Amino acid sequence: MAEFDLIARIRQRVAARDDVVLGIGDDAAVLRVPAGRELVVAMDTLNSGVHFPDETAPADIGWKALAVNLSDLAAMAVEPAWCTLSLSLPQADAGWLDGFLDGFLGLAAQHRVALVGGDTTRGPLSVCVTVHGLVEPGRALRRDGARVGDTVWVSGSLGDAAGALAQWRAGAAMDAFLRERLNRPTPRLALLPALRHAHAGIDVSDGLLADLGHVCAASGVGAQVDLPALPATEALRACFDDATRYRLQATGGDDYELCFTAPQSAREAILRDATDAGVAVAAIGRVVAGTGVSAFDAEGSPWRDARTGYDHFAA
Ligand code: ADP
Ligand code: MG
Repeated sequence: MAEFDLIARIRQRVAARDDVVLGIGDDAAVLRVPAGRELVVAMDTLNSGVHFPDETAPADIGWKALAVNLSDLAAMAVEPAWCTLSLSLPQADAGWLDGFLDGFLGLAAQHRVALVGGDTTRGPLSVCVTVHGLVEPGRALRRDGARVGDTVWVSGSLGDAAGALAQWRAGAAMDAFLRERLNRPTPRLALLPALRHAHAGIDVSDGLLADLGHVCAASGVGAQVDLPALPATEALRACFDDATRYRLQATGGDDYELCFTAPQSAREAILRDATDAGVAVAAIGRVVAGTGVSAFDAEGSPWRDARTGYDHFAA
């Protein structure tokens, strides 16, 4: 299969959108940005063996490549509109591409995101996606808006993806539920209404404490996290003891949940909007004066990672 045939295979499956003036097929795409909206752009790359195990199913790679990008827009409370896709493939494999598109375009359809262009090259398996979203001027949710006294919230549950990776690295079979959470993260776009109440936000890709740390650094504040308050699935609890689970939840990445801060007065509104969205949210801590993120165990003592001995307290 030639590069042209691969592109034709992609093009024939792409859904239309009114604001795509010109999509795949010319030298560039032409997109209509509505008056009174800011254009928001994010890009993320997934490399085989680095960001996913080599044996990951093509449909899962396709899903995740778009999901991690949509998660970045969700973290900024931005509505996605378009995306581009750069594919580096070791060989022109139609079966692989079809599976990849099942995952990628399946998720795109769920959020009415149009694939409007890209690039196709031969090389080690690598997928780079750019997403474009729209937001009311000044309304993108940034990392630098957290205020002392804010509540720290997190969506969904934490630690599942890291749990699956831990099992995989140990050479064990991945729990089916945890593996699904690793391979098919849900971009939390359903929470956009709840995020209207937020002061700052980020998605959890590198680990809760690290990512919340970015919010704190940008905002010039500190944060305290109560480890027992971290939402955990039954599957995670069943597979790991509490000490290991805390480590996975606090420091494991790849969950693509949202972490955001909001004034205490917004509590009821956030819970209501999250319930309407069908997505759980949990209050896990608070924004304080100072710097760095500190975590506390069930006894209220500063948490020290039992395995590494690493002291996560403060920065
Ligand atoms: P050019 O040589 O002008 O850069 P290409 O041959 O790379 O054009 O691409 C032809 C068209 O196909 C362009 O519109 C491009 O955006 C689109 N395209 C190429 N690869 C992909 C891809 N992986 N996904 C979506 N569109 C793609
Ligand atoms: Mg090109």
